[in-house]
Amino acid sequence: MNWKDALQRLKDGNEKFTSAKRDTAVPDAAEIKRHTDGQSPYAIILSCADSRVAPELAFDTGIGEVFVLRVAGNVANTSTIASIEYAVAHLGTKLIVVMGHQSCGAVGAAVAGGDNGPNLNKLVSYIQPAVEKLGKDADVADIIKENANVSASTLTSQSDIISNAVASDGVKIVTAYYNLDSGKVDFA
Ligand SMILES: [Zn+2]
Repeated sequence: MNWKDALQRLKDGNEKFTSAKRDTAVPDAAEIKRHTDGQSPYAIILSCADSRVAPELAFDTGIGEVFVLRVAGNVANTSTIASIEYAVAHLGTKLIVVMGHQSCGAVGAAVAGGDNGPNLNKLVSYIQPAVEKLGKDADVADIIKENANVSASTLTSQSDIISNAVASDGVKIVTAYYNLDSGKVDFA
């Protein structure tokens, strides 16, 4: 599926989700088994780990449709970049969505600053560029959206596989914002 069709599929799915008209059935044993021998997801989604942001639900998808990376702050780090490289290079996926969300706690931690221990400090370091660009007093929603932009540009700046795929293999990276209060996903 090309990136435009994939994006439209996600938009259509989110429309169903927000209107409580999901039509993806709960998979039965046959449907689960059907996917045993391979996968060809049409979209890669880099999302936050927040329990309220569930991409498979939000886009009304079933098994094998979306390749989802979830990490606090939807950051592009070595692990998420490598996972995305796999999907781009080996699964033929053409759409990459970097999705931030309303009231992201990881972005909040980056805005608040301070010492959160070595692991969270490292995670927050990926979000700092967005905070520094807009300033700590900026609307946090704007910082969250900028953080998605930072992750999106990091995917190409830190990966030859992804940047080459964008340049010459029909891969597209888009950013999005999940509204906790409605479930609606706004694509940039
Ligand atoms: Zn979050």
